[in-house]
Amino acid sequence: MENRIKVGVSTCLLGENVRYDGGHKLDRYVRDTLGEYMDFVSVCPEVECGMPVPREAMRLVGDSESPRLVTIRTQKDMTKQMLDWATIRVLQLESEDLCGYIFKSNSPSSGMERVKVYNDNGMPQKKGVGLFAKAFMERFPLLPTEEEGRLHDPRLRENFIESIFALKRWREIKKEGFTRGNLVAFHTCHKLQLMSHSITAYRAMGKLVAGNNEMPVNEQYRQYETLLLKALRLKCTVKKHTNVLQHMMGYFKKQLSPDEKRELLDVIFQYHGGMTPLIVPVTLFNHYVRKYHKSYLKKQTYLNPHPTALKLRNHA
Ligand code: SF4
Repeated sequence: MENRIKVGVSTCLLGENVRYDGGHKLDRYVRDTLGEYMDFVSVCPEVECGMPVPREAMRLVGDSESPRLVTIRTQKDMTKQMLDWATIRVLQLESEDLCGYIFKSNSPSSGMERVKVYNDNGMPQKKGVGLFAKAFMERFPLLPTEEEGRLHDPRLRENFIESIFALKRWREIKKEGFTRGNLVAFHTCHKLQLMSHSITAYRAMGKLVAGNNEMPVNEQYRQYETLLLKALRLKCTVKKHTNVLQHMMGYFKKQLSPDEKRELLDVIFQYHGGMTPLIVPVTLFNHYVRKYHKSYLKKQTYLNPHPTALKLRNHA
């Protein structure tokens, strides 16, 4: 890829002292590991909308669908200040070409889900979304988003980062110009990756790519992008990966010796049973792809969806 990937992130996760208590919430995985491959566009909604550091702690109160942001001790309502700023900030972020966003969990401004909202009796319910996070996700409803806490789950992490890299590749193809040839090429090399999310989605995208030459190519790209982002949001599972791995075996029908076939089936079976991580069958497939010069599979992003050094499939 030509350029580094641009991802939005809550500023305190990068170690900046912007929290209400003057501290930070540095996440080393985000800053150091993902930072090797990504350029971060950091956003601290509370500081950027004009609040000082340190400041009084706040929380969400009222109706969980449209809560207010209120300071805990002095009960000052900060909702308008935050929402006025957020409306402008999300528009500015449009020009950043973000491929994803990592939010700080549990924050009344930045939390993506299950943020506490307090009712009139002072009882919390984990049903809210931080005010900025909500404005962001309404503006970019299909963009890959995650919270730093959920990134500790190996499957969620792999899914999120895989989606970000796929979206980056899509943006690069778009930069080359809208041609039907490029669209077919992109769809072809993402076949197995898309199947690992949803075979139904993959087929719908195939229909769009193959059919209707009367549709203007710009419209075809627009519809394809929507389907792509929706497909990437459907989480991969062990069962879906197992189906893809078995499907891939079909490409080796003639080349694999009985012993190699048995070994591959064993490895797929072990992955399916939770005895080995995904990296094991994928590595073996990569080996056979090289050994038997399988040029079609060589181009499949499924076999190398993100940098190996991230070790994302070693635990998934
Ligand atoms: S959670 Fe959001 S608002 Fe709070 S300090 Fe971090 S970036 Fe700023």
